[in-house]
Amino acid sequence: MRVVECNVCGETISAADDEELTRGLKEHLGDEHDETPSDDEVHQTVDREAYDAMDS
Ligand SMILES: [Zn+2]
Repeated sequence: MRVVECNVCGETISAADDEELTRGLKEHLGDEHDETPSDDEVHQTVDREAYDAMDS
């Protein structure tokens, strides 16, 4: 399980892996903040800030 915090509102987004996390964060930014970052930008955020979380 991988987790990243939204850099706008601080909500935590979680996913099975970084690829899914990138999609989830991008969707969150679009839905919640009307932002349309590129895949690259979101991927960089995930690379920089995502961390492992316990599955349970
Ligand atoms: Zn947010």
